[in-house]
Amino acid sequence: MVRHSSRIELKQSAYKNNINFIRKKIGENVIVSSVVKANAYGHGIRTFVPMAEKCGIDHFSVASSFEAEEVLSVCSPKSRIMIMGIIYEEDIPWAIEHNIEFFVYNYERLPQALEAAKKTGKRAKVHIEVETGANRTGLPQKDFIKVLNFLKKNTEHITFEGLCTHFGGAESISNQFKIDMQLKRYKAFLKQCREKKVEPNIRHIACSAAALAMKDTVYDMVRIGVAQYGFWPSPDIYYAHLHETNKKADASLKRIFSWKTDIMDIRDVEQGEFIGYGTSFQATHKMTIAVMPLGYSNGYPRALSNRGQVLIHGKKAPIVGLINMNLFMVDITHIKEAKLGDEVVLIGRQNNNVINVSSFTNSTQLLNNEMLSRLPAAIPRTVVK
Ligand SMILES: *Cc1c(COP(=O)(O)O)cnc(C)c1O
Repeated sequence: MVRHSSRIELKQSAYKNNINFIRKKIGENVIVSSVVKANAYGHGIRTFVPMAEKCGIDHFSVASSFEAEEVLSVCSPKSRIMIMGIIYEEDIPWAIEHNIEFFVYNYERLPQALEAAKKTGKRAKVHIEVETGANRTGLPQKDFIKVLNFLKKNTEHITFEGLCTHFGGAESISNQFKIDMQLKRYKAFLKQCREKKVEPNIRHIACSAAALAMKDTVYDMVRIGVAQYGFWPSPDIYYAHLHETNKKADASLKRIFSWKTDIMDIRDVEQGEFIGYGTSFQATHKMTIAVMPLGYSNGYPRALSNRGQVLIHGKKAPIVGLINMNLFMVDITHIKEAKLGDEVVLIGRQNNNVINVSSFTNSTQLLNNEMLSRLPAAIPRTVVK
């Protein structure tokens, strides 16, 4: 097979470290559902899922049936898959057939699930997602009794696997009043379940931010996305952790992701010459530049034109000129040892230097999650120890 123009490496030891850290926060008996939507936040479902399983994860959450199918194609038969978002009606029998659990956020879905369960001869495992204040998906309070009655009547075909909700903004302390209100409303739903004697197997509401900073949101399972990849969900959550542990700084969460390529060509440029398209960069002196074999079509943000940096031999090489569709140039005048084919680090560590996703996103206005999740699925991912 021919090589791609860049590659992504996932560091298993860093991932194991992050899971241990999250476990210490939430306790041993809580299920960690690894949220792998958006191609595992760009880390690559096919590579990430088997690595996570080696680190003790056996529950995965995705945003769609399409993503569930990808997880299913690589995961162990013992792992559980949960669809939090879109599943088309015609795909419900497929999900049930493969023991894939799914969120139900409106009443209409239940008769569909029942019919599919009868058809496949297997039980549908549903998580009732209730509306508590985020107002995206979530079953409204007024339909809840109807839902509980339906579940009670059809226990032979439908398992009430979970009762869940999602916080709209647990990352920010300024939203605390809203999060408190959502928690209160969730508890009211739980109370109704108890009163009706129709209770879920598990209760789950916490995302990374809630799991790390709000102990009373940790029920039977947590749905962990961003933190498992080694990112603090926000500065607020990081400072809350420092406060709790009485520390000045903390490196408990480690990035598992690095993105690399190789020098495609090296050339000298005379003073006064322009580099690449247009006139946005003119050489102020005689320069040596290296050509990178990727560009914005490969997920490298064009906004880094004339501002980003890469690492070569552990030294920072500034980008000169515009990021093209599949090429860009960097200044290596100060890196005499650089030669054709040398490794280039786009994101990650090389010797004693590092380029963080955040340094990337500061100048592009992209969110960390946005930047990572946009990296093309075609870039090969591999696991390193
Ligand atoms: C994305 C998502 C999560 C994970 O959120 P993080 O902040 O990345 O941990 C959890 N639950 C739902 C419903 C989600 O959509």
